[in-house]
Order: sequence, then structure tokens, then C-alpha cells
Amino acid sequence: MSKFDETLKIWFSGKIIDWKDANIHVASHVIHYGSGVFEGVRCYNTAKGPAVFRLKEHVQRLFNSAKIYRMKIPFTFEQVFDASLDIIRVNKMKEAYLRPVAFRGYDSLGVHPKDCPIECVIIPMVWGKYLGDEAIHEGVDVRVSSWTRMAPNTFPALAKCGANYMNSQLIKLEADADGYEEGIALDSAGYVSEGSGENIFVIFDGKILTPPLGASVLPGITRDSVIKIARDLGFEVVEKIIPREMLYIAEEVFFTGSAAEVSPIRTIDRIPIGPGRRGPITQKIQRRFFDIIEGKVDDPYGWLTFVYK
Ligand code: PMP
Repeated sequence: MSKFDETLKIWFSGKIIDWKDANIHVASHVIHYGSGVFEGVRCYNTAKGPAVFRLKEHVQRLFNSAKIYRMKIPFTFEQVFDASLDIIRVNKMKEAYLRPVAFRGYDSLGVHPKDCPIECVIIPMVWGKYLGDEAIHEGVDVRVSSWTRMAPNTFPALAKCGANYMNSQLIKLEADADGYEEGIALDSAGYVSEGSGENIFVIFDGKILTPPLGASVLPGITRDSVIKIARDLGFEVVEKIIPREMLYIAEEVFFTGSAAEVSPIRTIDRIPIGPGRRGPITQKIQRRFFDIIEGKVDDPYGWLTFVYK
């Protein structure tokens, strides 16, 4: 028994098919070389009905990731956008986590993908709080990873490519093996980069700092949302190189991500951050973020796309 809901239907290169039929051949290019790009998108059951959070930005990032890898997705932006909403409707879901993936398929196995077709799928699932239900309130215990993020001229960090997640797996598995919930990776210059699947924010001297895109980070959509929310709440937000040791003496540190949402970090390398629990600025940002995504307050940014209009 897998952890998936296998009764759900999947959008597979333009067709809606049963879960059990959404298969690819073992000789597909993506299996051998990680040649796929993907997204993780959440649909929330808001007070006004199911709504997808920043779908436009997710679809755009999927196309950007594909472009970086010279991959031509055989569907338009609008087709992928509409299919994302369709698959939620077809499955009659109120809440969902969507995995749109574009990948190089089955034709040949040279490193040069030549005539391998580009397939595009959207897999719906039900996914709770990524770092656990308690994490949102209590915070998580993390370590600085012994693995660094990829150097800028190795794998492009701005592309959300499957292959990048081999690095993420090393970070996550090491953290887990050592009894931590997550790892924070440094970049190749030794400065703070990001978690295995989250961006990071550091509150120091009342200012909110986050590593710049040049620090081998994914251009997180939650990161962007939090920057806007924090500025509108009156905080100064600065994208800045962050030395590792600043993590230990910060007032607050938190992760952001579509899966992790806004998750406080309470200890790093067993050193308590601030008072060792969720701090007041994190809480304020979290509240505003959840109020918007749950439809409790007006969405001044136009971030929600309602599934049933
Ligand atoms: N960094 C990495 C490595 C990630 O995998 C993710 C999750 N997509 C993030 C950051 C956060 O990005 P987003 O807020 O767009 O989910």
C-alpha cells in the first residue's frame, strides 16, 4: 500500500487518466539523468471555496525551469494553468497539493536527449503539513548540513529540476539520520543558502534577512510572498549574504515553502534561536500568510485562483 490516494486521476500530457495507468517506461531519459522539472502547488479550502495559491507564478517557474534546460514543453502556459484547475475539479478536491512535472521521456538514452519527447503531467495529492503539524507552532530542530548547495556554475539553482533534489536528499537524509527535522545548506562560498526544500529567513537586529538569489537558492514563491507580506506589515526586508554564525545569534529564523509554508526554527545545531521557540515576528508573518491563504482576509495581492468561479 502506497501513501498515495490511488483513486485520484492524473493529467498526463493532455489526457485525464486513472492513477494506475499513469506510467512511463524504465528506459525514459528522466529516470537515468533526472531530466525533469517540476512544481509543488497548494490548493487551499478557503472560506470562499477551493483556491490555488499563486498558480500563475508556479506555472511560470515551470516554464522558466524548462527553458533553462532547453526543454520545450509541448503545451502553452494557459493549457498547463487550466489543466491544474481541471484536475482539482475532476477529482472533486477541496484541498490539494499538485505536482506538475515536465520531463524527457522514452526514445533513447544518450545524454543528449535528441528525440526524447517532453511529457507533461499534473499529479494531485493530499499532503498535510510538510514538517509536521506541530512544526508550525512549536518550530523545528535543524542542523547546518555538511553538504553544500550546488555551485552557481554546476546546476542552475533557479531551475526546479529533479536532479537538484539528489543534493536535497543528501541534506535531508543526513539531518534525519542525526535526529534533526531538516538541514540548512550553505552555498559554495560558505554562506547560508537554504533548506533541502525551503528558503530561509533570519531576523537580526529587528530586520528580516534572506539570502539573495545568487546564493544558490530556488526563487521560492512563498519566499516572494513573505517578502511582500513582511514589507506591508512595516518590516525592513533585505536580501543579503548571511554568514553561518549569524544563524546562531539571530532573534528568529524560519523556513518558507509551498510544502513547509512558514515554519519556525527553534534550534540550529542544538543552539536555541532567541528564546528557543517561535518568535513574535515569525508569528505575525505566519498569521498574515495563513489568513490570506485560508481566505480569512481579503487577498490584496490577487494570489488566489478560485477553482470554481
Ligand atoms: N528551496 C527549495 C530547494 C525547494 O525545493 C523549495 C520548494 N519548492 C523552496 C525553496 C521553496 O519554494 P516555494 O516557496 O516556491 O515552494
